[in-house]
Amino acid sequence: DEWKDRGAAVSIQRHVDSNGNQTHRIVKKGVQDFSFGRTLGEGSYSTVLAATDRQTLTEYAIKVLDKRHIIKEKKVKYVNIEKNTLNRLGDHPGIVRLYYTFQDERSLYFVLDLAAGGELLGFVKKLGSFDEECTRFYGAQILDAIEYMHSKGVIHRDLKPENVLLDDQMHVKITDFGTAKILDAPRPNRSSNAEGRMQLDRQEQDFANNIGIPEHERANSFVGTAEYVSPELLTDKAACKGSDLWAFGCIIFQLLAGRPPFKAGNEYQTFQKIVNLEYQFPPGFPKIARDLVERLLVLDPTKRLTIEHIKSHPFFEGIAWGKRLWKQKAPRLK
Ligand code: ATP
Repeated sequence: DEWKDRGAAVSIQRHVDSNGNQTHRIVKKGVQDFSFGRTLGEGSYSTVLAATDRQTLTEYAIKVLDKRHIIKEKKVKYVNIEKNTLNRLGDHPGIVRLYYTFQDERSLYFVLDLAAGGELLGFVKKLGSFDEECTRFYGAQILDAIEYMHSKGVIHRDLKPENVLLDDQMHVKITDFGTAKILDAPRPNRSSNAEGRMQLDRQEQDFANNIGIPEHERANSFVGTAEYVSPELLTDKAACKGSDLWAFGCIIFQLLAGRPPFKAGNEYQTFQKIVNLEYQFPPGFPKIARDLVERLLVLDPTKRLTIEHIKSHPFFEGIAWGKRLWKQKAPRLK
């Protein structure tokens, strides 16, 4: 059986009451529990639909994946990576949350946070570029989400403005973990509660399922998107946490400049520019932001700024990091 979660239309919900006591509730959901609405987008193997939980009236985005197509194109492992990573990253406001998975004969269903605002890329295209205030806010939310995923041992490997979605408050929700890499064994909270143990076992099982996935599919193949791929992936065929910070540098550049730093007529030429660090700031690019980007777009990944250093860089002065960042009102995009 290719699908590890056959029949597991189960979500374990954790509740913490005002005294700090934890309880767990097993919630079973299936296709019949949702009413499906408009199409939010299409991927190569999937369609994402808006959907409403008939009972709670909560809105979700449901990603419907075509099993036959996935098997035919040998993408099963990517679907499993996406599910396993999302299960591991269930608790951060800046990352799309996976609530339930279930399946029928034809399809797999991932019930996700609805990101009603769509892709950050759409806003960059519409506005041409962002001002410093908006770049600071969106940059900070993206960085906070990266810090969380790295703390959970996950490297995204394909960060770009298309994979940064926005919710109805115009806050960041990072998505597309199909090419992520899981670094180490999970360290979930040990719980004496039976359901807690069940969740732990499943996470451990999911992790075990990932062992044996070769780091790179084929020679000369790479994961990610040409414009945002890090030089170490091109030269050493290896990604590290720093590879996400390279992509973060590309995103900061793009928000302010309106175009990614490395872009050429084809992928090969783009790769050449990346490994030669061949890029130019447009006239008027803010000086402090330029300093930040120059410290991120560094060929040696060990010499890039660390997340701690990025947070204390003058470009992010005045940002309230952590929980407060997610309570803040998003600046109006202009
Ligand atoms: P591909 O599989 O070809 O790489 P993709 O990763 O964009 O494409 P999906 O993840 O299926 O494929 O997403 C399809 C589209 O649906 C995307 O363009 C995205 O904007 C939209 N979408 C995905 N997830 C959500 C969500 N949680 N909320 C709102 N829209 C979403």
